[in-house]
Amino acid sequence: MSRTALAARIDAVEVAAYTIPTDAPEADGTLMWDSTTMVLVEVRSGEVCGTGWTYGPPACARVITDQLADVVLGHDALDVGAAFDGMVKAVRNAGRPGAVSYAISAVDIALWDLKARLLGLPLYRLLGAVRQEVPVYGSGGFTSYDEDQLREQLAGWVYGQHIPRVKIKVGECWGSDVGRDLERMSQARDTVGAKAELFIDANGGYHRKQAIRVIRAAADLDIKWFEEPVTSDDLEGLREIRNTVTPDVAAGEYGCDLTYFHRMCAAGAVDCLQADVSRCGGITEWLRVAALAAAHHLEISGHCAPHLHAHPAMATPNVRHLEWFHDHVRIEHMFFDGALNPQGGVLRPHPTAPGHGLCLRRDVASRYQVGSTVCRERNPR
Ligand SMILES: [Mg+2]
Repeated sequence: MSRTALAARIDAVEVAAYTIPTDAPEADGTLMWDSTTMVLVEVRSGEVCGTGWTYGPPACARVITDQLADVVLGHDALDVGAAFDGMVKAVRNAGRPGAVSYAISAVDIALWDLKARLLGLPLYRLLGAVRQEVPVYGSGGFTSYDEDQLREQLAGWVYGQHIPRVKIKVGECWGSDVGRDLERMSQARDTVGAKAELFIDANGGYHRKQAIRVIRAAADLDIKWFEEPVTSDDLEGLREIRNTVTPDVAAGEYGCDLTYFHRMCAAGAVDCLQADVSRCGGITEWLRVAALAAAHHLEISGHCAPHLHAHPAMATPNVRHLEWFHDHVRIEHMFFDGALNPQGGVLRPHPTAPGHGLCLRRDVASRYQVGSTVCRERNPR
C-alpha cells in the first residue's frame, strides 16, 4: 500500500468535449434539443487512468484546463478529498454553481475512478457497498415524441427489459398544452399496464395551482412521482404542492453544492431529493448530499448519467433509484465497453472490474469530438 501511495502522483489531466446528435428530436416541458455534449476528463498517474465526465456545455472543458488542472496536478491520487477541497477553493471568484460545478464533478469522478484503479478495486467496494444492486427507472417519454414513439419506448422498458417504473415528460411548452399532457399520461398508463409505476416530470413547466389541477385531473392514472411540478427555485411552491397532492414530489437535479440541497430539504420541498453526481460536485459531494437527505429522513434519487451514479449509489444507504435516461444511456453504451444492463430494473456493477468498470472506445468517441486539451505537471518531482 505504501509503495502505491508514494507512486500515485497525478501527472496529467486530459479533457475532451464530444457533441452527439440525439436519435430523434427531444424535448421536455421547457427545453428542446437535438444533440448532447459530454465533457470527459482523464486523470493519469503513471500508466493508470481515471475517467469522469459531465453533460454540459463545452465551456466546462475550459474551466477544467484553466481553473482546475493546476490544482489537481501533483496531488497524491489517493487523497481525493484534498483535490476536491482545492478545486472548490480555487473557483471562489469564478463562482461554483453551473458549469464550474459540472467541471469539478467530472474531475472528482475521474479522481475516484483513478484511486479505485490504483488500488485494484471496483469503485463501489472502495466506497463501501451497502447493497447488491441499484433500482432504476426508464426515463424519456419526450414531449417531442408521437404516440407510437412513446408507446414503443415505454413498452421496451417495461416488457423488454422488465423495468417496473418509467417516467415521461409533461408540462409541454411551459404548461400551455395540458390537454396533450393528460392524453400522453393516459397513453403511458395504457401502455405499461396497471402494475408498473408511472412517473411524470414537468421540468418546472407549470405554475403552482396549475400543477395541482393537472395531477387531480390525472387522479385515475396512479402517478407515483411528480418531478419539478414548478421550478426548483420555488421551494415554497414545491412544499405547497407536496402537501396537497398524492404523488411524491421530487426536485434537486440542478443542485451544485451542499447549501443548495440543505435549503431544499429544510424547506420541506420534496418527498425524495434528487441529485446529479455529474453536477453537484462529483462523488465527494454526492455522499454528503445523501447524508444530508438522510438527516431529513429523505431518500435520494440519481438524476441522469446512470453509469456515473451506479457505484456511488451502491454505497448510499438511502438511495431510492437511478434514472435510466434514454439520451445518456444511448451515449454511454456507444462510448464505453463495460456499460451496464438494466434487465429486471436493477443495475449490478461488475464485481471485480477496477474503478467504475468502463473503458472508453476511443474510435467511437473520436467521431464526435469537438475539442481536447492535455495538461501535464510542469515540474514533476
Ligand atoms: Mg427532471
